Amino acid sequence: MSSVESFDVLIIGGGFAGASTAYNLAKKGLKVLLIDSKPWERIGDKPCGDAVSKEHFDRLGMPYPEGKELEQKIEGIKIYSPDMKTVWTVKGEGFELNAPAYNQRILREAEKGGVEIRDMTTAARPVFSDGFVRGAVLVDRRTNREYEVKAKVVVEATGYSMSVRSKLPPGHILAEPLDDKDTDIAYREVGYTSANIEEPEYLRIFITQQASPGGYWWYFPKGKDKVNVGLGIQGGMNYGSVHEYYRKYLSVYAPDLKEVKIRGGALVPTRRPISTLVWNGMLVVGDSAFTVNPVHGGGKGSAMISGYCAARAILNAFEVGSFDARTLWDANRCYLEMYGAKQASLEIFRRFLQKLSDADINYGMEKRVIREEDLLDASVSGDLHLSVADKAMRILAGLGRPSLLFKLKSVADFMGQMKSLYKRYPATPEGLERWKAEVKELIERFEIALR
Ligand SMILES: Cc1cc2nc3c(=O)[nH]c(=O)nc-3n(C[C@H](O)[C@H](O)[C@H](O)COP(=O)(O)OP(=O)(O)OC[C@H]3O[C@@H](n4cnc5c(N)ncnc54)[C@H](O)[C@@H]3O)c2cc1C
Repeated sequence: MSSVESFDVLIIGGGFAGASTAYNLAKKGLKVLLIDSKPWERIGDKPCGDAVSKEHFDRLGMPYPEGKELEQKIEGIKIYSPDMKTVWTVKGEGFELNAPAYNQRILREAEKGGVEIRDMTTAARPVFSDGFVRGAVLVDRRTNREYEVKAKVVVEATGYSMSVRSKLPPGHILAEPLDDKDTDIAYREVGYTSANIEEPEYLRIFITQQASPGGYWWYFPKGKDKVNVGLGIQGGMNYGSVHEYYRKYLSVYAPDLKEVKIRGGALVPTRRPISTLVWNGMLVVGDSAFTVNPVHGGGKGSAMISGYCAARAILNAFEVGSFDARTLWDANRCYLEMYGAKQASLEIFRRFLQKLSDADINYGMEKRVIREEDLLDASVSGDLHLSVADKAMRILAGLGRPSLLFKLKSVADFMGQMKSLYKRYPATPEGLERWKAEVKELIERFEIALR
């Protein structure tokens, strides 16, 4: 090892999570280093649908995408039932991004605010001693030089790879693994269309267990003649290859895709957030901390929220002069309040949705067992209000699928229980193991209720 350098904060990974952490730490007088394995011009370039709700930018005070960073302004989503006979329109403003361009702008702004950025630099492993993460061993990918960086706080923002926290000592609380069934295997292509797209300001989502089991197909316009098309399927279920589904059903969901420019896939975590985003000397943000929305798989907005919360906790830790789990704990409170509690209740909803048949979904959407408003409400707050479904239950009980309606009522109850459990998230690290056991027990009870 040739040398050791020292920083206040080392951020590993420059995607949306790492970039927003850096952006929120800029101009605060700290010595911050952000590294990414990729060359500058490829940072932020990862397989994605690139759609982000405007609300995230407003809430966090992040600049809106502009110029070439913005490919299409979004006004809402059209959700298609499996038989395509029912189409719901859910209104909501958003952006279809040129994600690398926006991501790199945020990094440049952080750099202007004093953050040092090194591209082509990989963290090989964390430096760990006396129960604290104290830095990382880095590799300069241009020269293969290995060197150590010491930092009072290390932020892991390595995306789905979890490539640093997975190398913590076995059993470390931040080494929490991911169950394959809590993932979606997603693939997308971006290209030009044979004709102009009708209503490019609407994203399209096709729910179909047949063509994307446990996930959905999407068609996200990037202007009048360019589109991002893809699908996700649930991991760990032996459903087969995502590429095969793509080839088999592309002509159904995007018959107009002609000239493909970009292709690629990746995995998405679809569960509640990691039990704690922090421990001694370390914070985890973004996909690495499972911050993705379990129902729709969008993770860029919540990655930015986790970055914001991490930065807030770090600034507080430097004021106090302590970097242990207890001091950094505020990142958990912040993230769970802003997004994570809702995420946990949506994991319950996701588990329910993945078990429905196409016939159930056709029926539920056509008969409005849940309505667009309920869905919107659930996606904003994580609550499923069933006043309408309750009424429907009485009317329809004798008609067709009472079991579906009864299940839905039970799902709503469990979602409420999960949210209230998250409201009781422990105030200090000491209560964590007990609380984790309660979460596990609630999920087990829900799985039994669903059978
Ligand atoms: C096909 C697909 C479609 C999606 N569609 C949407 C969508 O429409 N909207 C949405 O909001 N979300 C979507 N998502 C999810 C979204 O892409 C992610 O949630 C989000 O990009 C995560 O950001 P991140 O910063 O946590 O991770 P990443 O963007 O993965 O960034 C991690 C960075 O860390 C770097 N890195 C990793 N390991 C190391 C290391 N050891 N040393 C140095 N650098 C390292 C990587 O090079 C990378 O730049 C989709 C995901 C997929 C796969």
